[in-house]
Amino acid sequence: MRFLIAGGGGFIGSHLSEKLLKKGHKVVAVDNFCSSSRKNIEGFKEHENFNVVEEDILNGVSIEGEIDYVLHFASRASPKNYQEHPLHTLRTNTEGTLKMCRLADNKNAKLLYASTSEVYGDPEKHPQTEDYWGNVNPHGPRSCYDEGKRAGEATLRSYSEKNNLDYRIIRIFNTYGPRMMKNDGRVVTNFMRQAKNGKPITVYGDGTQTRSFCYIEDLVAGIIKSTESENGKVYNLGNPEEHTINELAEKIKDLTGSDSQIVHRELPQDDPLRRKPDISKAKRELGWEPETGLSEGLEKTLKAF
Ligand code: UDP
Repeated sequence: MRFLIAGGGGFIGSHLSEKLLKKGHKVVAVDNFCSSSRKNIEGFKEHENFNVVEEDILNGVSIEGEIDYVLHFASRASPKNYQEHPLHTLRTNTEGTLKMCRLADNKNAKLLYASTSEVYGDPEKHPQTEDYWGNVNPHGPRSCYDEGKRAGEATLRSYSEKNNLDYRIIRIFNTYGPRMMKNDGRVVTNFMRQAKNGKPITVYGDGTQTRSFCYIEDLVAGIIKSTESENGKVYNLGNPEEHTINELAEKIKDLTGSDSQIVHRELPQDDPLRRKPDISKAKRELGWEPETGLSEGLEKTLKAF
């Protein structure tokens, strides 16, 4: 098959590109590298089945030849990065998603959209199932991303009402692994950088907020299984193993053998207090669940860091 991956040079997109090439598929990666590094694709950019188109999806992309599948992973995704570029983030997920719908429609291709656990906002339901509607501040610092992704989901739904679009949506929970940008401001990269450099490890708030961290290889396996799912389906993809941010700080400190101090900083506005996917639907319908525990995944990530 020939896949077009919008955001194919990003952290998740590049791992996905690589895996699909290994499976014998053709990949066209469209990326403007605004929140990723060209180094991500260095290992396979000369592969005969790989092409990279350096373009912002908002400018439109015209691709020669047939495309069987459009995977839309283009978006800034770290809170620090998307809050620095709120309008671009919002537009990528709204106008950009509409463009991806039109492209898939014109090519008679299927579409998979990478949505996020952030559509659940600061959840009142725990763990989060796909039928939970979320608790999102529409006018807050995270809304460019949260509401952008929610509008992205609505775009797929609305477009397909009158057009022949075969789509599915995955909601990705916190994912980590090699190729994350070291300066993206996310918790895993911040703590690793701080621990390795003997700098204070900055826990925001009292550190009792939770996240559930999924290792990239597990996520990619889940994405590939999701491509085979039925039209209109929505799946949570993430690792349900839930940890407080304090636990994560201690774990990274231990794994690096660092003598960094753990310090507390102000909790950012609208920071979700807890987050954990209910993945029973993905388990049941896709036969997928993560296999990598947090310590194992962090060790692999540290090696690459
Ligand atoms: N966080 C932290 N210290 C940092 C960076 C993040 O304590 O240096 C916290 C952040 O407040 C949030 C969690 O770690 O509660 C995850 O933040 P991240 O930016 O990785 O992603 P989010 O899950 O919020 O989208």
